[in-house]
Amino acid sequence: AKASGGRGVRLYEPDRDTNDPRRLTLVAELRAALQDGQLHVHVQPQARLATGEVRGVEALVRWPHPERGFIPPDEFIPVAERSGLVGPLTTFVLNASLAACAAWRAAGHDLGVAVNLSARSLQNADLVDEVTRLLRRHGVPADRLTLEVTESSIMADAARAVALLHRLRDLGVRLSVDDFGTGYSSLSYLKRLPVQEVKIDRSFVISLREGGEDVAIVRAIIDLGRHLGLEVVAEGVEDQVTADLLAGMGCDIIQGWHLGRPMPTGELQPWLATHAR
Ligand code: C2E
Ligand code: CA
Ligand code: CA
Ligand code: CA
Repeated sequence: AKASGGRGVRLYEPDRDTNDPRRLTLVAELRAALQDGQLHVHVQPQARLATGEVRGVEALVRWPHPERGFIPPDEFIPVAERSGLVGPLTTFVLNASLAACAAWRAAGHDLGVAVNLSARSLQNADLVDEVTRLLRRHGVPADRLTLEVTESSIMADAARAVALLHRLRDLGVRLSVDDFGTGYSSLSYLKRLPVQEVKIDRSFVISLREGGEDVAIVRAIIDLGRHLGLEVVAEGVEDQVTADLLAGMGCDIIQGWHLGRPMPTGELQPWLATHAR
């Protein structure tokens, strides 16, 4: 439960020293974990505030390390990024997510699935063929897949990233700007991105009920999103008070512990059955 919340103990502090022996160990272990099928995908539900309908899930990668317990993705994704492993990792998550999505659809649940892309993946032109191949393999319509990208990962090489986003969009895949509000890009930049959704970063959402400046920030993001015709998702919604505040501000979709924790893909259908209203 600790790891699911992203509050795991920091066992490894990623740094720039590529010769750091701890880093080399982690790289070797991650490579082995990918090969041996040690990585898993958990999914966290997202629901429409207006109707309560569960519209889909976000896929979150999990690494239950045999000796060290769950290593938080915030720790090993950066390591994967710098060691060339993020390509295989993204492929693994995409494949597992679309397989799960196809199974839910076959069972009568027309859910979407959102997958996180790292900065490196956004520089990889092969991603378009990869996504095409995996959608076809699992028979999932393109618009049931959302790819989440952060402002900072776009900015790493904006020209290339934006070109890739357009090609992904041409496939019919949905695109979402993750962690919105934490980056440095100008708001007008959002208008030029081929995205359909913004996700308000959970750092703003978590302190919403305390009042203060985050209320103004969240309200501004929701208004901006609506004016640009984007769906607005709030992540990190931990209680009913926050959900009510967001509903009052016109937010479209919530995700967070209040609705459901990240869970193994196999637990989603039983969860849907108990959640049904
Ligand atoms: P993110 O994309 O912003 O994901 C949301 C994080 O918020 C997840 O942390 C999730 O478990 C956590 N969370 C969900 N609901 C709540 C809540 O109500 N309260 C609080 N405090 N936290 C909540 P997680 O799973 O530890 O993932 C951390 C980050 O690692 C993600 O942040 C994402 O940037 C990255 N990540 C996770 N899976 C993948 C993946 O498959 N590929 C890539 N490239 N990055 C991933
Ligand atoms: Ca995300
Ligand atoms: Ca986020
Ligand atoms: Ca994040």
